[in-house]
Amino acid sequence: MNKCVLPDPEKFFEIRFESIGGLGAHAAGQILARAAVLDMDLNGSHFSSYGSEKKGSVVRSYVRLGASDRPIRTSAPIDSPDVIVVFHSALLEQDITIAGLKQSGVLIFNAAADGVPDTLARAPAASRVIRIDATNIAIEELSRPNAVLLGTLTAAAPFLDADIVLRALTEKFKQRNPQAAAANERAFKRGASEFEELHGVGQAEGDLPIIRPSPVLGYETAPIGGVIPYPGNTISNDLSMSRTGWMPLFDEEKCIHCGLCATVCPDFCLVWTHEQSNGDVPKVRLKGVDYQYCKGCMRCIETCPTEALTRVTETPGLADRLRVPLYAGGAPGEN
Ligand code: SF4
Ligand code: SF4
Repeated sequence: MNKCVLPDPEKFFEIRFESIGGLGAHAAGQILARAAVLDMDLNGSHFSSYGSEKKGSVVRSYVRLGASDRPIRTSAPIDSPDVIVVFHSALLEQDITIAGLKQSGVLIFNAAADGVPDTLARAPAASRVIRIDATNIAIEELSRPNAVLLGTLTAAAPFLDADIVLRALTEKFKQRNPQAAAANERAFKRGASEFEELHGVGQAEGDLPIIRPSPVLGYETAPIGGVIPYPGNTISNDLSMSRTGWMPLFDEEKCIHCGLCATVCPDFCLVWTHEQSNGDVPKVRLKGVDYQYCKGCMRCIETCPTEALTRVTETPGLADRLRVPLYAGGAPGEN
């Protein structure tokens, strides 16, 4: 066993993963805590909070580490983390994502190198801010963003033994899928070396205040009858972060309108029209995707026989630009 020493052995070292279902935050927390407890001579605990068991819901995963002589007797959520890892840059829109970050802390976020989100000005001025394009590295290596972000985390917090964390990552997958284990190893190593440290981004003085989530709807604010009047959606009607970094791109030229994609789409996002000319039998044609309901599961692209649907990285505003509304004028209650 390799003895790892925390930056301050008198205190817990706390890490919070901010993610959405499907990006692997829960698995990353499990791997990290397991490696710390079994092979780094640390105490550790890990747990996650999430909503429905489907891709697209908010996931928070917590890892608390302590010195071997300091037992962990709490399973409270981590309000004031030393490190926050943001698995999807759209989450930065919400204040709660980086709430509680210590001024001595580290903020790691997954985004392409095309500018710095304005929302990062809310970070503590003294904190370290690190960007890594985990989504594209994961796509290139046929891995998942969690492998990349674990690599970046070990580079940002060097007391975590990178070899041990990588071994734990490999162990988790090698029985089930040796190819995935090799892909994860490549992704992990790229995450540990291809990140970029941003300077002068945060503007806040001191530690960030803690925010505790509370329900949007309560007995005073719920609509009469408990109805959420936006079909197929959440009350906030904001799906910008409900996909996992990828979205299907439709090329009408290649489509043979076979309908196979519609048989596998779990959320009925594919938009069809009936076209008829000169009294012919009406033809059912695929027009595109209503991204308002699409969770980016990629079943449609795996099923399409002609590559009319392909996987692309979601960039800000792309889904809005390409969306074909399922309902004329938008969903009832939208806007
Ligand atoms: S599976 Fe592909 S070819 Fe068939 S309707 Fe869907 S997009 Fe078109
Ligand atoms: S990725 Fe394809 S199958 Fe999955 S929800 Fe979106 S349109 Fe449907």
